Amino acid sequence: MKDYKLRFRQVHMDFHTSEKISGIGEKFDADEFAGTLDEARVNSVTCFARCHHGWLYYDSKNYPEMIHPGLKQKDLLEQQIKACHKRNIRVPVYTTVQWDHFTSSRHPEWVCINEDGTMVDTCNPESKGVYEAGFYKTLCVNTSYRDYLKAHIKDIFESVPEVDGIFLDIVMVVDCSCRTCVEGMLKENYDPVSREERLLYAKKMMEEFKKDISDYIRSFNSAASIFYNTSHIEPALRTVQDSYTHWELESLPSGGWGYVHFPNSARFARTTGLDLLGQTGKFHTMWGDFHSFKNKEALEYECYRMLAFNAKCMIGDQLDPDGKISKDVYQLIGSVYKEVEQKEPWCIEARPVCDMAIFTPEALGFNSGCGGTIPESVVGASTMLEEMGHQFDIVDVKSDFNSYKVIILPDEIIMNKELAEKVENYIEAGGSVIATYQSGLNSEKTAFASGVFGVNYLGEAPYSPDFIVPKGEIGKGLSETEYVMYKQGTHIEITEGTELLSSVNVPYFNRTWQHFCSHKHTPSSHQYGYPGIVKKGKVIYYSHPVFSTYAQLHPKWCKLLIKNGLDMLLPEPIVRYEGPTSLLACVNLQEQEKRYVLHMLHYIPEKRCQEIFTIEDVIPLYYTKVSMKLSEKAKAVKVVPDGENLDFKYHDGRIQFVIEKINGHAMVAIEY
Ligand SMILES: [Zn+2]
Repeated sequence: MKDYKLRFRQVHMDFHTSEKISGIGEKFDADEFAGTLDEARVNSVTCFARCHHGWLYYDSKNYPEMIHPGLKQKDLLEQQIKACHKRNIRVPVYTTVQWDHFTSSRHPEWVCINEDGTMVDTCNPESKGVYEAGFYKTLCVNTSYRDYLKAHIKDIFESVPEVDGIFLDIVMVVDCSCRTCVEGMLKENYDPVSREERLLYAKKMMEEFKKDISDYIRSFNSAASIFYNTSHIEPALRTVQDSYTHWELESLPSGGWGYVHFPNSARFARTTGLDLLGQTGKFHTMWGDFHSFKNKEALEYECYRMLAFNAKCMIGDQLDPDGKISKDVYQLIGSVYKEVEQKEPWCIEARPVCDMAIFTPEALGFNSGCGGTIPESVVGASTMLEEMGHQFDIVDVKSDFNSYKVIILPDEIIMNKELAEKVENYIEAGGSVIATYQSGLNSEKTAFASGVFGVNYLGEAPYSPDFIVPKGEIGKGLSETEYVMYKQGTHIEITEGTELLSSVNVPYFNRTWQHFCSHKHTPSSHQYGYPGIVKKGKVIYYSHPVFSTYAQLHPKWCKLLIKNGLDMLLPEPIVRYEGPTSLLACVNLQEQEKRYVLHMLHYIPEKRCQEIFTIEDVIPLYYTKVSMKLSEKAKAVKVVPDGENLDFKYHDGRIQFVIEKINGHAMVAIEY
């Protein structure tokens, strides 16, 4: 299934429709529907078989009682598919798995149970139970609900012709204490009283569920696309990857995910071998935000950024209950998708070219909730690296470290024997490592798991905040004075052959009720405390959690300390440019076309209101100087798609050119 390729311009057409509304689909016109999508250059649209209210939108052979009672055109889905196929628009079919109001209210015995005996309500942890608005009671796929779901999938294939694929929404690992799960856990020797064991069981059962359902779907259509949606793509999904044909990264920047989620999810997903798409929405905020419009500039950025991160584009919309497609929404979507269509030839089969990788602590556990989260240490590290223009992936234990020149172990990478050996072999083979704070400690957090870090662990630092004193090369751009390190570090001593790059001075005392000074932390006593940054061969170790500090507070000195460390380990990064930190650079390679494609994105998300980030203006950049270190000799450098040729020259083994104008997004092809 590794060769499944997604289309570039997709729409996810939500249709969760209350039974209290009548005239469903009465203004639907198949030709107008498909024609509007086509005009907006959409070439794949996910349409609805069943919604979170639990209603069907097709002429069900086996479950006519589940058809939406207000549905005027019983074959709504069939008409959508036929009209779209006529225009070569693909139509994967949406169904819901764990949220279904119709089913959960008729079959409470199928609902997941919390350990206190209440029903699991994913979006309302403080749920008022039965009297809560919303369809978020969560169904348990280990109960006989699974048989019902399979019968529904069979019904889709029997009732609807030409099903291209199935999108299964809301498929989460749930901490469930329902009778079926408890009996299952006891049978397999899991302790249901322990939350950790319940989650392990739930994860195992969820993998089994996906394999079961994918086999079942493939028995009807072996070529069907299959995706189980939990939005965040994380290392824990690797073990069940064969049940998927591709990844969809649901990540609406104004819908709770923010602008940092998508790139961090994509940087891992793109390393797994499956094709991926990014999912945003046309909504100003979130799904279900009817009659709202995202700023065009924000939609541009979100889609072009997907292209830069090797993903195809998907924009979420919701059809009005009367079924009439909105011309205005598709003018907005079309204005961006027409540009995407022009840019596509430089994105097909493009793979990222990365100097380095961040090892994610997610690899050591798993997210179980809806939406998923990116660990703070990874957010801090990736924000820094993006601001520096570095090219990187996010990796786990299964990744091949040797494809990268530098591996970053951010703040919390506790090492078992397997990981310690992997890191040692990587360094032996010539790789460089940056490790911070607890990264490198053994599972008991009593000592470093390997000698490669060049230090002994004495415990947590006795003082915090304390003060780093940058010196020499590691202190480039900083004064040789004290800089506060806000978060507690480790207390270390250096071993033989390790170079001390910067030391830490300690405060007069820690701030307590008995001794404190001024509003915030105690100032430095100017007395040496312990080592702060050390280097042993190609490993640089920082004793403070600089990455999570950066994610929380953004101190520029933390970034400069990492930047200088990277300059020492990687003197020739693939790309360098003179531009603001708001500029995002992504280097891709199209091997078959014999060209590199450099994406430069300059959009600035701002939080000007209480709740969301958005983008309203595009601020162009002029005359951006770029240099790149490529293994091939360039024949031509072109701004694409327009094809304008740029002058270039070589200096110290790096190709140099100037991009005259970056108006939001610029792509430069370096042909060799
Ligand atoms: Zn259960």
